[in-house]
Amino acid sequence: MQDLSENIQQVHNEKLGRHLVAGLAIEPGETLLEERPLLVTPHWECGQLKCAQCLQESYVMCRKCQVYPLCMDCGQHDDFECEFFASGAGKSICKDLLVKNYGICGLLKLLLLLEDPATRPDCQLLMEKPINLEDYHDGEGMWQEHEEQVVRPLMESGIVDLLPTQHLTSDVLHAHCIRIDSHAFEVSARDGDTLKGVFVCGASLPHHCVPNTVVALDEQFNMKLYAAVPLQPGDIIYNSYTNPLMGTSQRQHQLRMSRRLDCTCSRCQDPTERGTHMSSMKCRECAEGFAVCEMDANGRLGDWRCLDCKSVLPADSVHELLAEVGGALVDARGDLQVYESLLAQYRQLFHPNHFLLLDIKQNIATILRAAALMNSVEQPCKKLLARRVELCSDLLPVCRAVVPGLSKLYAIGLFEYLISLVELIELQFAESDLDKKGYVAQLRIASQAAKEAMELLRFEPENSAEGYLSERIAMELERIESDLKKYGR
Ligand SMILES: [Zn+2]
Ligand SMILES: [Zn+2]
Ligand SMILES: [Zn+2]
Ligand SMILES: [Zn+2]
Repeated sequence: MQDLSENIQQVHNEKLGRHLVAGLAIEPGETLLEERPLLVTPHWECGQLKCAQCLQESYVMCRKCQVYPLCMDCGQHDDFECEFFASGAGKSICKDLLVKNYGICGLLKLLLLLEDPATRPDCQLLMEKPINLEDYHDGEGMWQEHEEQVVRPLMESGIVDLLPTQHLTSDVLHAHCIRIDSHAFEVSARDGDTLKGVFVCGASLPHHCVPNTVVALDEQFNMKLYAAVPLQPGDIIYNSYTNPLMGTSQRQHQLRMSRRLDCTCSRCQDPTERGTHMSSMKCRECAEGFAVCEMDANGRLGDWRCLDCKSVLPADSVHELLAEVGGALVDARGDLQVYESLLAQYRQLFHPNHFLLLDIKQNIATILRAAALMNSVEQPCKKLLARRVELCSDLLPVCRAVVPGLSKLYAIGLFEYLISLVELIELQFAESDLDKKGYVAQLRIASQAAKEAMELLRFEPENSAEGYLSERIAMELERIESDLKKYGR
């Protein structure tokens, strides 16, 4: 199920457990690991029945076992699970088991993989790491969700009695749910719906907020992990399980909630977050200074202090402000004017790269993009287009700084920037706001961005979202180059 590059070694230590290190010097783009998912399943809360084979929507049931949904295109699903309900121990189970409790389907899949002698060894790897249930008992909502959607319905279904060798108790089932969640990546079904793909090896790599690898997932749910930056012998292979556009306190909160992890990586310990100042505040005492979050020797976050005049901004007041902006963002509900006025208001208090301002900017850019698409038949407004270009270019340096090397985040940022730029300058040129020389100069910038984005995506599989994006950028580049040929002399 996993295929490890020969340049990678498996090692073990107390802090990280079993993990991978580079055995030789490794170039960016080099494949480190390829892996098939142990299982692919809808999210716990999904109520829509999905084909057991291809995971697209399905309303028909498998004729043989009558328990699993199976779409018209798929003749059969996993033999073991079908037989289990058709003629094996599960044949006495009520046929509407999944129809009534679709939330259990991911965990049921895991239990049957554990039961099947052919797949049991792969599952054992997932079971290796002990789960401390105490850590999760009071977890915000997660425990409750597992209990209601999965564990209780499964305990009541009668299945548990049919798998006696697994000694299933509600605690064992809870631990399985946590294992599934913590080893899952979001993958996309062919119909575009998002699913969870559980990867035993790829999803158990240690976390770093600045990963040195890229995870690529194709349409068949295959994972390819490749190096994002040059790796030296002995370098630990890291993955990131958080959003790089969040500030340190938000990332740490998310990692604590989802993985019970206290991150002390280099970005978390750098108050400037790789020079981006994504969590920095404007100083209230001096005109030019920025206040960064101080931390103690254990990496615990404290007050904010101005880098220039050294005055202190208490942590409480910053957290209060963050909560206030967070609430205002929820209340904005996609209203362009509200976002613009939030941006104007809070620009006074935060560093221009603060993650909350970036969040507001992304919201505005998304709305403008949708507006431009809708207006494309009529005349798109130049002012809105110019605003979008401006916002996209604001985001670029931050995207570049937080994910170095081969970065999908930066590639997507470049793409957003270049399509809005091209749209704007074509219009400006057509309406003579831009002369030929100015148009050509802007086209060169767009061409450069397109080439850079394609370079960053060149190791992505063709049949992946990023592979298709790369094709789209290539088409855009062709158009740009042909205009450059036409006007560029
Ligand atoms: Zn199907
Ligand atoms: Zn079946
Ligand atoms: Zn970190
Ligand atoms: Zn100051």
